[in-house]
Amino acid sequence: MALSDYIHTFGQYLLERHGERIHKIALDAGFTCPNRDGAKGVGGCTFCNNNSFNPNGREPQTLEAQCDSGRRAIAKRTRAKKFIAYFQAYTNTYADVVELDALYRQATAQHDIVGLSVGTRPDCVSGEVLDLLAGYREEGLIVWLELGLQSAFDETLAKVNRGHGLKEYREVAIAARQRGIPLCTHLILGLPGEDASHYHASLDTVLDIGVDGLKLHPLHVVKRTVLANQWRRGEYRPMLYEEYIRDACDLIERTPQHIMFHRVTGTASKDILLAPEWCSQKWNVLNGIEHELVRRGSRQGCKAKESLAAKLGEHSSAVEGIVRIVGQNTAKCQTLFQNPAEEKILDAA
Ligand code: SF4
Repeated sequence: MALSDYIHTFGQYLLERHGERIHKIALDAGFTCPNRDGAKGVGGCTFCNNNSFNPNGREPQTLEAQCDSGRRAIAKRTRAKKFIAYFQAYTNTYADVVELDALYRQATAQHDIVGLSVGTRPDCVSGEVLDLLAGYREEGLIVWLELGLQSAFDETLAKVNRGHGLKEYREVAIAARQRGIPLCTHLILGLPGEDASHYHASLDTVLDIGVDGLKLHPLHVVKRTVLANQWRRGEYRPMLYEEYIRDACDLIERTPQHIMFHRVTGTASKDILLAPEWCSQKWNVLNGIEHELVRRGSRQGCKAKESLAAKLGEHSSAVEGIVRIVGQNTAKCQTLFQNPAEEKILDAA
C-alpha cells in the first residue's frame, strides 16, 4: 500500500488524468515580497528567513537552466517526461502583468512543460493576473494558483505579521474559481497560539469558501527569523512529531475525497532548520501519516462534512433541487467532482 491509497494526491490525480507521471519543477524567478519592502508590510512573516530574502544574496539561474537541473533531479527518481513549471520562491505575482506574462511564457515555452503553478500571497493577485492565468488554461495548459493562507484566524495572521487577513484570501479564492482556475491553499500547523481546534476551523473555512487542492506543513523554526528568537527565549514551542501526525491525519480525514493534497508535510534545508528536528526527515513524516491512517482504519474524507448536506442546512430548497438532479445523474455528478474546473458548476448551482 502507498500513501496515495489513503489520500487523493496531486501526483496520482495527474497520472490518472493524463495517463503519465507529471512532476513539478520548482523555480525561483527572482521575485521579492511586498510584505518586506513596505508595499504591503515591513519585516516579513515572523517565520520567513531574512537572509534568503535578500535579493542581493540571491542570484537565481535562468528559468531554462533551473528547468534543466529540475529535470535531471527528477529523472533520478522517476521516469516523468512532462513537467509543471512551479513558480515557488517568494511572491510570484509581484510584478506588472506584462512582465509576469513574459516570465510565465518563458518557462512554459519548453517542449515538456505542460503546466504552470503560481504560488503567491492572497493580497497580491489582481483581476488582471487571474485573467492571465485563465487565458493559459484556455490555451490548454494545466494551471494552478497556490495561495498561502496559513491560518483562517486574523489574530494568528497578525501575530506572525502576514500583512493580510482572511478577507483578502476569500476574495481572491472566489474570483479565481469563478474563472475556472484551480486553487491550492497552503495551511501551516503549529502557528503560535494555535492548536487542533484552530486547524480544524481553518480547514472548514477554506472548504466552505471553496478549494481544489491543499498543502499542509508544520511550522519550521529557521535561522535568522523573528520566530527563531521567540523559540530561543522559550516563547514558542514547536510541534512534536506525534502531534503533527495526529493533527495532519485529522485534517486529511475531514477533507472531502475530491480535493487533492499537493503536500501533507514540508521540510526546510538542514543548513537553516533549527526546529523541530524531525521536519528534516520528510519520508519519516509521510510514513508516519500513512501508518496512522492505517492504524485508525481511515482515509481522506471519512470524516468530511458532506458538502451538499452542509449546504442543505443553509439553503434547503436550492440544494434539494441539486440533490434531485444528482440523484438522476449520479455518474455525471461523480465526473464533475473529479474535475476541479467543472466542480464550481455545482457550487454555482
Ligand atoms: S513567507 Fe512569503 S509572504 Fe511571508 S515574508 Fe516570506 S516571502 Fe513574504
